[in-house]
Amino acid sequence: MRLLPLVSNPMGNVTISGSEMKILREVPLKDIEFVLLDMDGTLLDLYFDDYFWGHLVPEKYAERHNMTFGAARDYLFKTYKSHERTLNWCDIDFWSKELNLDIPALKEQIKHLIEVHPHVIDFLKMLNRNRKKVFLLTNAHYKTVNLKFKKTQIGRYFDSVLCSFDVGYPKEYIEFWKRAEKRLGFDKDRSLFIDDTEEVLKVAREYGIRYLLFKTVANSKAEPKRSAEFMTISDFRELMYEGL
Ligand SMILES: [Mg+2]
Repeated sequence: MRLLPLVSNPMGNVTISGSEMKILREVPLKDIEFVLLDMDGTLLDLYFDDYFWGHLVPEKYAERHNMTFGAARDYLFKTYKSHERTLNWCDIDFWSKELNLDIPALKEQIKHLIEVHPHVIDFLKMLNRNRKKVFLLTNAHYKTVNLKFKKTQIGRYFDSVLCSFDVGYPKEYIEFWKRAEKRLGFDKDRSLFIDDTEEVLKVAREYGIRYLLFKTVANSKAEPKRSAEFMTISDFRELMYEGL
């Protein structure tokens, strides 16, 4: 068996696998000045959101409308789908009105389920230490962002946070990227963007963001996702090495 070189890692020396070596080659952090990160699923465990929309909301909706849980869930999934790729999708005030439920209050009720994925904090600290510009780009509503920052304390690691609401388009639209670049001033050619939604990565690629990574482990309790089109990471340790 061929021995791989040992790469110095802030978490201690570890031997890294062939696929990790490939990431280090194709995503050279030393050439990257801007790191653009998605929040839900990428940095934070999507279990919270999946549980919230797939379980808690249907349960409360069923109670309110005197329906079975199954009927409420079927109805809600259809309704969610009809608002995909729109700002409504991520607007919790819209959903409060639409479903006649206090969505922010319900989120607050299960905030103990909000978790940061493993090694995310170390990764963010490494970026800060190496003076990368770190931007959070999220479709999440600012009320959700506030709740999640309060619980996880990850806000301190970002140079800036951009919600789709601030620019008027979700990340699935080229217009989002045009406006994001104007607001944040990143250089597409020296930017890395990481997201757990392929559709968003495709639009970022079309816009010209040079380095793209797909995060496979979004919900820690579900099977990791796959991508045929993008290089993937399952864990942020795969991007952690010194000598940037
Ligand atoms: Mg996401």
